[in-house]
Order: sequence, then structure tokens, then C-alpha cells
Amino acid sequence: MTIQVTKKPKWGMVVDIDRCTGCQACVVACQAENNIPINSQDAVLQRRAKQWIRVERYWEGDFPNIKARFIPIMCQHCENAPCEPVCPVYATYHNQEGLNVQVYNRCVGTRYCANNCPYQVRYYNFFQGVWPDTLQDQLNPDVTVRSRGLMEKCSFCVQRIRRAERTAAREGRDLKDGEFAPACVQACPTNALTFGNLKDPESKVNRLRANRRAYTLLPERATEPSVTYLKKVDEDAH
Ligand code: SF4
Repeated sequence: MTIQVTKKPKWGMVVDIDRCTGCQACVVACQAENNIPINSQDAVLQRRAKQWIRVERYWEGDFPNIKARFIPIMCQHCENAPCEPVCPVYATYHNQEGLNVQVYNRCVGTRYCANNCPYQVRYYNFFQGVWPDTLQDQLNPDVTVRSRGLMEKCSFCVQRIRRAERTAAREGRDLKDGEFAPACVQACPTNALTFGNLKDPESKVNRLRANRRAYTLLPERATEPSVTYLKKVDEDAH
């Protein structure tokens, strides 16, 4: 199935908790792709996170029958995003492809958006990013290197979306489902993450969203997230 270039897609993701092993490859891939600075011990001790995805870990049961549970959480690109109406300078807005966009040049760092995000997936640059000389050449030229005082978060690797669109347009064809993926999806060794067009009824994300294990985070907040989770399958659960 192909995606019509003329008809705007709506991008979304499915996260299968049953496949996630908590390896954090998605976190590192996101960091490398999006020029996210390497965190320091000092900053961590001050609770200054720098990742756009976090893999939350929970423990279930008691030793020796204890089980680790993992859930990767990134920007949910909500259709009804609580972060958007509170920004005084319109630095965060919803685009026609369902992406919750962050305009770095507009952000004045009030952090209202982060305080209003029920998923806590927005990260504020308390520090100027510094990379060792050996890593200077690995910075992604398609992604802005952000400075101190800005809010940032997962963009569904919008630079990859734009590159795929340009390639398809140059070749005079439509985008194909699964033709490209954000860095986290590409890096996940267990295929726990799936990305695609929610407007395409045949896309893999839509097939997965129809699964009876599907749910969204904090539905009582009515945020209408574009990220859907698939429940863990636990045969020992009662
Ligand atoms: S890379 Fe995949 S398996 Fe590893 S933590 Fe991320 S989602 Fe889970």
C-alpha cells in the first residue's frame, strides 16, 4: 500500500510492551540521531535528564519470582496536546501531519509546556551541550544543535520524514509504508516499535492498533495520543 503525497499523512507509533527487553538501544539511537548531548553524573544527580525517550522500569512480584517490566515513553504527539495552548509564544503547535512541533527559535524557556505535559516527555536544556572532539563529526547535519534555555522533545525524527518525502517526490512516486522509520524504530532489536501513517488503513501501525491488546497512556486526560501501546502478554498472570 502506498501513501498519497497529495493527501497529508498522520504519523503515529505502536509500542509493543511484550517485545521490549529494556535494552535502551532506542534511547541511544535517538541520542545519536538528534544531537542530544551526553549527560554528566553531576546533571543526573540534579535530575537533569537529556533523553527524548526514557525506558521506565517496574518490578512485579517478590524474589525469586520477580519480573522486570519495561515501557519506553516518548512524546505521544497528542491530537489534543496539553502542551500547545499554554505556550505564550506559540513555540509548540500541531502540524497537518499530526506532529506536535517544537520551534526552537521561538521558545523563550518558560517551561509551561513541560509542566502541562502529563507524560513528562519534554526536556529543558539547562546546560549548553558539549561533545568531545572525537564525536564532533558524528553530529547529524539535518538536526539543529540546540543551545541552553530551550525546550526540546521527540519529533518522530521529522528530518527522516522530510528526507523520505523528498526522495519519493524526486522519483515521482508515493511514500511506501515502512520505507523509513525514526531512529528508535530502526534500532530496536526486537521490533517493539512500529511507525507509520494512521490514515492508511492498510499500514502496519493501523493493523497493530486494531489488536485487542492496544491501549493509550492516561486516557482519562483525553489527550488523544498518536502513540498506542500493546499490553504485555503474561501467561502467569491471573
Ligand atoms: S530498543 Fe526496543 S527492546 Fe530496547 S528498550 Fe527500546 S523499545 Fe525496548
